[in-house]
Amino acid sequence: MACEITNKCIGCGDCEPECPVGAIVEDGLYYKILANNCNDCDGYYSSPHCMDVCDIDGAIIYHDTEV
Ligand code: SF4
Ligand code: SF4
Repeated sequence: MACEITNKCIGCGDCEPECPVGAIVEDGLYYKILANNCNDCDGYYSSPHCMDVCDIDGAIIYHDTEV
């Protein structure tokens, strides 16, 4: 379980302050999600909030399988 930022990210940074657990961090010009920190917004939002705030199709994908 975790969301992942893909290479479609444009580095706008909109998602970073919106993550309730601070799992989104800068990664050079772009951003990444710390998979061990992301809890899919459990207890905060009914769906992954970063995906709701990101305007770029496909920049954040959701893995619904345990890894
Ligand atoms: S909101 Fe989307 S495009 Fe912007 S930094 Fe986050 S993942 Fe990248
Ligand atoms: S799904 Fe929620 S907890 Fe996970 S990175 Fe996105 S905003 Fe943060």
